Amino acid sequence: MIAENLQVLKKRITARCFECQRDQQEVRLIAVSKFFGTNAIIEANRLGVTDFGENKAQELRDKYEILGDKISWHFIGNLQKNKVKYAVRAASYIHSVDSQILANEINKEAKKLNKVQNILLEVNTSLEATKAGLLDKTEVMKLVKHCTTLSNINLVGLMTMAPLTDDEKIIRKSFADLRNLKDEINQNGFDLGELSMGMTNDFEIAIEEGATMLRIGSAIFGQRNNITDWRQS
Ligand SMILES: *Cc1c(COP(=O)(O)O)cnc(C)c1O
Repeated sequence: MIAENLQVLKKRITARCFECQRDQQEVRLIAVSKFFGTNAIIEANRLGVTDFGENKAQELRDKYEILGDKISWHFIGNLQKNKVKYAVRAASYIHSVDSQILANEINKEAKKLNKVQNILLEVNTSLEATKAGLLDKTEVMKLVKHCTTLSNINLVGLMTMAPLTDDEKIIRKSFADLRNLKDEINQNGFDLGELSMGMTNDFEIAIEEGATMLRIGSAIFGQRNNITDWRQS
């Protein structure tokens, strides 16, 4: 099933890149493997997927123990301070940094490992109170500047989740807002390249609005509804 799903997905990504005249090379596919077992990851990896996303620190730690660095790991979930060490050990990128405290902790753990940790700042473009992420431009700018003072952090871009809605206009606005924010930051002398946006239900809009990292789970691995433990899946 993963092989067929990937084939269909890649066709859709290629088609949409072509339609909006984007180079597909600059749109990286991150397969979100949360809840799914290591066999699913190995299968997708054999089919050419190199980047995988996880949203729980312990789950990432355990999968990393099994699969190691042959996978490029992305941490995309809410990160508690006491679990930062697991994410830093495993992840090539941490997408979900939304506070100075968290950035400091990541910097501290990265220093211990003699590593420079790639991070993105999570922005709440939908302004939904239940969502994580920085809420306004001033906050984002402040954290961008703070990150330049942290020697073991490399800030590469911004991440967002669109609101849960069928209204394409609202989704598009959320992605466009993130892109405009990145452009504005870069006009202030920074050089952020990455826009992590777009999931199973909205990745085509995200491609049109400039996404460089798509985080796609169910379109590759199937529905997560009935899975409670990845070791049994
Ligand atoms: C689960 C998750 C995804 C992938 O969601 P799908 O709808 O399955 O593609 C993307 N980003 C984040 C932050 C997630 O938690």
